[in-house]
Amino acid sequence: MRNRTEHTFVAPLELEPGVLRFTLPLPSGPRHVHCYLLRGNDGWTLVDTGLGLMETPWEEILAAVDGPVARIFITHMHPDHVGGAEAAAAATGATVLQGRLDYLQCERVWGSDDWPRRIADWFLVHGVPPETAEELLESGHVFADFVRFAWNPEPVEPDDEVDGWRALATPGHADGHLCLYRNGVLIAGDTLLTPITPAIGLYPESRPDPLGDYVETLRLLADLAPRVSYGGHGDTVREPAARARAIAAHHVERLDRTQAALGPEPRSGYEVSHALFGSSLPAIQRRFAVAEALSHLERLVVLGRAERGGDGRNVTYTGPQPGGRDTA
Ligand SMILES: [Zn+2]
Repeated sequence: MRNRTEHTFVAPLELEPGVLRFTLPLPSGPRHVHCYLLRGNDGWTLVDTGLGLMETPWEEILAAVDGPVARIFITHMHPDHVGGAEAAAAATGATVLQGRLDYLQCERVWGSDDWPRRIADWFLVHGVPPETAEELLESGHVFADFVRFAWNPEPVEPDDEVDGWRALATPGHADGHLCLYRNGVLIAGDTLLTPITPAIGLYPESRPDPLGDYVETLRLLADLAPRVSYGGHGDTVREPAARARAIAAHHVERLDRTQAALGPEPRSGYEVSHALFGSSLPAIQRRFAVAEALSHLERLVVLGRAERGGDGRNVTYTGPQPGGRDTA
């Protein structure tokens, strides 16, 4: 683990008065994740916790800020945000707050032994060849060893207040994703990122149209027009409304490309992922590619631009049929 990890531990950096950021390493993907400390009346609110890596120096990080951490807020249940929650809670003695829906999914995915099997079966249904499904399963399990979420957190509902910040329901990247908003400042989790765009994937036992959810979230954020947005990865977003519109445009284009990959012959989500993202992806990226292809395919179905078929043991998609809604 150690030599595959980019070590970017940094002392908390003040981004503006009362908002600090520190950055923890990840073994893959964007290679780092940002956590935030928000100053409150009774101490700091820590937002997100990185992976549950043994070497995360919580004592050192906490020693660098004045005053205690009063609470820990989790934006969403992905491993790089929730994985360190148990260790962070132990180091601070603080209560963990997590969205109610998000925690349900967190427990289902990271707290159960049969999730890897269920997701592997689901990949088979979507056309992933059996030996590749095994590979995808193993690549996903790499993270499971580093997820130490906090059991039974204090549940948060959309629009709840968290120490003066409002919890905004921002589904799409994860069904139960919550951002924090106060006075023009958005703590965005993985809702608004730059330069990368958040992954929007369809997963089993989740909401049926995550891209539709995400497009609504982007509209909400464009209307809210925060002054600044601090995300879980990459750079600070200085023009959040413009970034929300740019990401929405990116998905319009990807929807067109997804539709172009369909024709009269049924194609699986796995096949469409090759058309969209090429054929030479390592397993861990293929996982995301299949999930991302499926979120776009399901969005096209909702929009009447594709049809879902299959026989119950597999799911396939076709382009709009001649004489169908599109040609009416
Ligand atoms: Zn993330």
